[in-house]
Amino acid sequence: MSYISEVDPEIAEALKLEANRQDYKLNLIASENYASRAVMEAQGSVMTNKYAEGYSGKRYYGGCEYVDIAEDLAIERAKEIFGAEHVNVQPHSGSGANMACYFSVLKPGDTIMSMDLSHGGHLSHGSPVNFAGQLYNIVPYGVDRETEALDYDALMETAKVNKPRMIVCGASAYSRTLDFKAFREIADEVGAYLLADIAHIAGLVAAGAHPSPVPYADFVTTTTHKTLRGPRGGMVMCKEEYAKNLNKSVFPGIQGGPLMHVIAAKAVAFKEAMGEKFKADQHQTVKNANVLAKELQEKDFDIVSGGTDNHVMLLNLNKFDITGKDAEAAMSKAGIVLNKNTIPFETRSPFITSGIRIGTPAATTRGMKEEQMKEIAGYISDVINNLDKDTVLHSINSDVEQLCSGFPIYK
Ligand code: PLP
Repeated sequence: MSYISEVDPEIAEALKLEANRQDYKLNLIASENYASRAVMEAQGSVMTNKYAEGYSGKRYYGGCEYVDIAEDLAIERAKEIFGAEHVNVQPHSGSGANMACYFSVLKPGDTIMSMDLSHGGHLSHGSPVNFAGQLYNIVPYGVDRETEALDYDALMETAKVNKPRMIVCGASAYSRTLDFKAFREIADEVGAYLLADIAHIAGLVAAGAHPSPVPYADFVTTTTHKTLRGPRGGMVMCKEEYAKNLNKSVFPGIQGGPLMHVIAAKAVAFKEAMGEKFKADQHQTVKNANVLAKELQEKDFDIVSGGTDNHVMLLNLNKFDITGKDAEAAMSKAGIVLNKNTIPFETRSPFITSGIRIGTPAATTRGMKEEQMKEIAGYISDVINNLDKDTVLHSINSDVEQLCSGFPIYK
């Protein structure tokens, strides 16, 4: 921090304010987490200075002998954690990881069957405003209206009718265990590739807190910064038969020089993910989500699909006649950071929404357990029931600050 203060006081100030925000606000954004100091040290290291187009041992630049160590370690560790045949750690993001997989086996105009954004899917699975929706013919699938969970028989029917070239499973807001074996059977029935995007649940999968898609999927993509708790970035795992095409799709297909400092930080995060503390935290993340969902249900909240099996839940606010947008704003005044989210069969726009998404990874990383989840359920309920009462929201904010100060992120 001291160098930045000298060179650029304005950015130093922004960093200080952001650190303070992270320390004293309660982060319930399901896709966020706190990377360790070791991960951040690697990310802020001299490896940012190095160009390394190509792959380890076959670069287009000299002087790559030490960044090769970092990339080799990241790959070996990811292989060991997930049991993957081939790993590419170069994608700059989760969206880029998905793009690289599509480019390696699909042609523009091919059909992809993927989860609809409003049912929990991700933009890069085929939203019309994303490259995926613009390049490919997208057949969306959603959850069942009754159960608000995936109906695998219905998915089989959709696949048989539309004969997709690729099926994408995985989501940004789906709280139930994904049945990767069932997805494989559906893909096999219609001769489709299967891509499992585990961006949200990768940490859970690494720790055995969610079944792994690796034995079933042709491609598995992830971000490295959500439950996996690494630096912001992406990664692809695939069967050996796709390795060459996949590597070519990442570089030179869609990227130039890899971010070697980020790859070093990925390696550090993977080393941490092999440890007992990480595993325990992932199981605790699931336990925390479960307790939080149950407590909220007791306080009369509707949880989409009736609960959660993982780290995330969606609250349907329709019964309170409150929009996700207003709820998000009120939570923010109370020191609780989360995001508005569409719910299945949404009637409002994505800017307004009828729901909010809640996740437990960040709170769990800072050490919160079941007892704190009960407290948090109380705060959420108090905010929703006092949406326009600023004095109440400010008083909750003080309680939230007090709670957070008992669980420092960086000790
Ligand atoms: N896939 C899923 C399921 C996601 O939830 C996300 C991000 O939220 C992504 C992909 C994209 O990741 P990125 O923001 O790194 O492009």
